[in-house]
Amino acid sequence: MEQPLEPGLYIVATPIGNLGDVSQRAVAVLGGVAAVACEDTRVTGKLLQHLGIKARLIRYDDHASEATREHLLGLAAAGPIALVSDAGTPLISDPGYRLVRAARDRGITVISIPGPSAAVVALTLAGLPSDRFLFAGFLPNKDKARREVLEELGGVKATLVFYETAPRLADALAAIATTLPGREVAVARELTKRFEECRSGSPAELIAHYAAHPPKGEIVLLIGPPGEVEASAENADALLRAALATMKPSQAAAEVARATGLDRKALYARAMELK
Ligand code: SAM
Repeated sequence: MEQPLEPGLYIVATPIGNLGDVSQRAVAVLGGVAAVACEDTRVTGKLLQHLGIKARLIRYDDHASEATREHLLGLAAAGPIALVSDAGTPLISDPGYRLVRAARDRGITVISIPGPSAAVVALTLAGLPSDRFLFAGFLPNKDKARREVLEELGGVKATLVFYETAPRLADALAAIATTLPGREVAVARELTKRFEECRSGSPAELIAHYAAHPPKGEIVLLIGPPGEVEASAENADALLRAALATMKPSQAAAEVARATGLDRKALYARAMELK
């Protein structure tokens, strides 16, 4: 027989599509806790039913009332409880941070049961540098704010990883095409599911592809780091031409310099010739 679980808050990752990805430890913990805090009791109810587990479900998100949080903390101090999200790893663009913080403040044990997270799955597929990456959650909905975030993060020497939705993908790619035109981009879609796909290319290539094949399902969007693009004169010309379609020569030169590592002044001179 399984050892009873120690009291505490168990952060349990669940599958992001393929139910075969649930870990043995996740099953043991979900089967052994006094209650499971979750975003949507119907979604988690279905997962538990699939696993043959009966558990008390309590709805929780970071906007839950103080009373709900206190209730969960009281349960976790007395016995084991779990926190799950609809899919993937709790706290990663999902609720849980406030609960974990409050539990730690109270000296309640917090234990993480690792498992799938779409950001990491996408990073392992995209063929972009993975030694440094910056996960930045969802891009803002509004165009101006979205561009500001891309401009802010564009100089970071790391692969950028964002969560996206199918209806917003075209707008996100359009914003990347004008703010970071020289970058390699990857779209990782429906990960671990039947129609899993990971497609990479320039922002312009991906815009053309998804205009012809409107995407469905869940999406992770990745942007390669600056300086990864081939620094040939021919390539620089192509990038400058693309950038000049929407930018002033000085901006275009700065962006292409960032993408290729080539000298910004030389690129500016070339941009003035091409203009
Ligand atoms: N906590 C989750 C995790 O660890 O992956 C993420 C939750 S967040 C609210 C939902 C977003 O994650 C989706 O909009 C999508 O960007 C991404 N996502 C989740 N499952 C995915 C999948 N199977 N394929 C691609 N992206 C996925």
